Amino acid sequence: MRIAVYSAKPYDREFLDAENKNRNFELSYFEDPLTIETVSYTGDFEAVCVFVNDHLDRDVIAKLAENNVKLIALRCAGFNNVDLAAARDHAIKVVRVPAYSPYAVAEHALALIMTLNRKTHRSFNRVREGNFSLNGLIGFDLNGKTVGVIGTGKIGQIFSKIMLGFGCTVLAYDPYPNKELIQAGVDYVSLDILYKRSDIISLQCPLTPDTHHLINQKALDQMKEGVMLINTSRGGLIDTKVLVGALKKGKIGHLGIDVYEQEEAIFFKDLSDQIVQDDLIMRLISFPNVLITAHQAFFTNTAMQNIASTTLGNIEAFQKGQFVNEVNVDRLAS
Ligand code: NAD
Repeated sequence: MRIAVYSAKPYDREFLDAENKNRNFELSYFEDPLTIETVSYTGDFEAVCVFVNDHLDRDVIAKLAENNVKLIALRCAGFNNVDLAAARDHAIKVVRVPAYSPYAVAEHALALIMTLNRKTHRSFNRVREGNFSLNGLIGFDLNGKTVGVIGTGKIGQIFSKIMLGFGCTVLAYDPYPNKELIQAGVDYVSLDILYKRSDIISLQCPLTPDTHHLINQKALDQMKEGVMLINTSRGGLIDTKVLVGALKKGKIGHLGIDVYEQEEAIFFKDLSDQIVQDDLIMRLISFPNVLITAHQAFFTNTAMQNIASTTLGNIEAFQKGQFVNEVNVDRLAS
């Protein structure tokens, strides 16, 4: 089976090629993302393998169908970048990697919190320049703080347990509360209460039409002065323009994001010798209390191995007429 792998970075090739040794798919790698401009590459392929910032809207999917592509194999968990109804209408199956390492993402959320709080990134630079002063580096004890977790699925669950381990009070909001977490001491509350009481708020829910701009002006108004906000889920959960206003006023004391609303045009690219045209991210970068990583929360050896084996396993199952890890718009709706 011939598979067009889009948005392929050297590390994607490394892990997919290693996994393909026993499977012998014909993998063709394209560095470009899948968009309306690049969909023409798929003339000879039965499947496309895509990642978080490939753009599979109705027009792209119609072109895939014209080219006889039968399968969209996502090498990620989120599927907000795929028009699932269009895929169904064109009889193209969509499969994904529902979990590759929830630990990787939960631990990265913790890394953002620890760095923002204890400012180790600033200490590193200072000490290298012979500056051993502590001015401006003061943090707070995590022990005893209240952490609000929005979404307690695979990642949110692990993150909640990590925060309980630090001696934090953990509040959670999820339409489907998790009994094991309740037993462990997590308190499920309404979003309003979570916003009001939390010192740190971490977003661990998917981006859907319901959660788009979940963090808007109204939500921010309810939060504590100086709250720390962490987002490792999807950029569209936050209204970034409103966020800049809240940072300027000091309403948000710390912001840690691994995802960004307009990341499609900039993340996973080296733009260090170019003029970045995205004014919003440049404004965010200018705040000393903002830490941005470029969608790297998933990026561990364990996760990359799991992504490669599940992706090629999904494709192998499809060849046998089985739909493993399928994302189906009708089943989601019901
Ligand atoms: P999951 O499906 O296991 O859990 C999602 C949870 O969110 C579920 O419990 C669900 O009930 C809950 N939820 C749904 N709608 C909600 C709402 N309106 N408010 C609160 N909770 C809601 O997913 P997961 O594996 O834990 O991943 C969570 C998200 O993390 C993914 O959707 C993806 O966008 C993101 N993610 C990011 C990276 C990264 O590298 N930054 C990697 C993997 C996943």
